[in-house]
Amino acid sequence: MVRGIRCPEDRWAWVEIDLEALRQNTAALKRLLDRDVQMMCVVKADAYGHGAVKCAKAMLRAGANQFAVATVTEGVELRESGIREPIAILSEPPLDTVQTIVDYDLSPAVFNQDFALALGECAAAAGKVATYHLAIDTGMTRIGVNWRDALELRRSIDFHRGIECAGTFTHFATADVSGDWDFHMQTRRFASAVRAIQDAGLDTGLVHCANTPASILRPEVHLDMCRVGVGLYGLHPALETRKVVHLTPVMSVRGRITRVEHPEVGTGVSYGLTYRVPKPNVQICTVPMGYADGLSRNLSGNMDVLVNGERCPQVGRICMDQFMFAVTVNNVRAYRPTRAVEYGDVVTVLGRDGNEVISADDMANRRNTINYEVVCDFGLRLQKIYV
Ligand SMILES: *Cc1c(COP(=O)(O)O)cnc(C)c1O
Repeated sequence: MVRGIRCPEDRWAWVEIDLEALRQNTAALKRLLDRDVQMMCVVKADAYGHGAVKCAKAMLRAGANQFAVATVTEGVELRESGIREPIAILSEPPLDTVQTIVDYDLSPAVFNQDFALALGECAAAAGKVATYHLAIDTGMTRIGVNWRDALELRRSIDFHRGIECAGTFTHFATADVSGDWDFHMQTRRFASAVRAIQDAGLDTGLVHCANTPASILRPEVHLDMCRVGVGLYGLHPALETRKVVHLTPVMSVRGRITRVEHPEVGTGVSYGLTYRVPKPNVQICTVPMGYADGLSRNLSGNMDVLVNGERCPQVGRICMDQFMFAVTVNNVRAYRPTRAVEYGDVVTVLGRDGNEVISADDMANRRNTINYEVVCDFGLRLQKIYV
């Protein structure tokens, strides 16, 4: 039974964010780092759907030194909420954003000379020095200057007094795969690019490359700073990381029953009537949550929900804003339904109810995706309740 529930007034579907779990995860991950290693907390995509401002503030109290976002808009939101710590943007934004970047003291990833110089011009005109993180591609082929050309890029922009390098970084494609050959190749290439910059007498700023799996599994690549993301939210990026650190999921997703029916055997449910009530004593319950809330339609007929501490199968197609599930009522004992549910009962779609849990990993496996996408999706429309 889910007790003491708080829910939005206008809609019986919501995301619950456990800020205490978030603080514990942040502190647990910070403890894995040496004292002189900084922790950059990745709060892109609205903190993986958990709400960036509230989460960033909770992380600050548990050891965060810096933040990282994906877009200029995300960075502005954090600044406007009063966060003063450094905020990195993990990709190089369009040229037209340099004024905003300078105004809000954001630190973009840089790998194009044009962008670096435009940023420098804009900062100089404002009487400021803009900081940036040099992005180096060491093998993922996503963003960054090729590792062989990193020093050359630095040489072509370092004359500008409007910019300063706050960090030099790369990103791993396979940090979650133990003993991976490509991971070691990326580390070697990164070390070589960093050494070339240092040997030329240039300042690299903080050197960083570790995401959550590397932060947990590979202390040798912690360097000056770790960029920790998914682990903060209590999700593991790999099976191996579970053995090293205990994390608690931060997000739960719940709704309340808006309708309970006892249809006759053979009655169809939802679009296409793909499910038909197979036997007597089945309750069909409706929850006002659907695929526009991040509950993927691919889960139709292939997921359970928890109600009163018990698992019940979701049935019929998941709609845009609602879904249905079935409760089999046991009338045998004392002529009394032992599992009957009622209008207003709380339904858990993700998270714990009594002894039962539905995890983001369960849901990701059923959807053929990863836990990251499951939580990002639930962040899209549902109201967040912080507990
Ligand atoms: C998203 C991201 C991270 C965080 O990754 P996790 O696996 O969630 O820890 C770190 N660095 C970069 C460049 C990223 O894009």
